[in-house]
Amino acid sequence: MNSRKRKEIESEIVRGIEVNDGWLSILEKFYDYWITFKEKARKLGCEVEFFQFKQKFGGLRVYAYIENEGKQGEFEKEKEVLKQELRKEIQECEGLAEKTCEFCGSVNETVKARKPGDFWIFNICDECFVKQRKEEKNE
Ligand SMILES: [Zn+2]
Repeated sequence: MNSRKRKEIESEIVRGIEVNDGWLSILEKFYDYWITFKEKARKLGCEVEFFQFKQKFGGLRVYAYIENEGKQGEFEKEKEVLKQELRKEIQECEGLAEKTCEFCGSVNETVKARKPGDFWIFNICDECFVKQRKEEKNE
């Protein structure tokens, strides 16, 4: 992701980007979806908010939702469809993150949630795990 794209995405998320680089491709995928979602929601009179894209306990958490559903009784069916679509997209991204190293973006069988240091859990591949441990020791 180039810095311009990063800034663009960052300005869209209330709390900014709170994941390591390996997951930025997932964020980019979600962001592309989000832009079309936002447009559709606006047409239905809804307001939306992309609040947070963060890592917690080694898992991805995407907090994005319809904040204001607009006029009651209007486009109810369409709004429901849109909400389900958003939920599905978020689940997909969170599922993808489970298989993806948060540091290098690798998708392989060594990726799992664990602590390279004393505190934080990351979803990390073997190679990055070793690197992170070395950095911790040198600090
Ligand atoms: Zn890695």
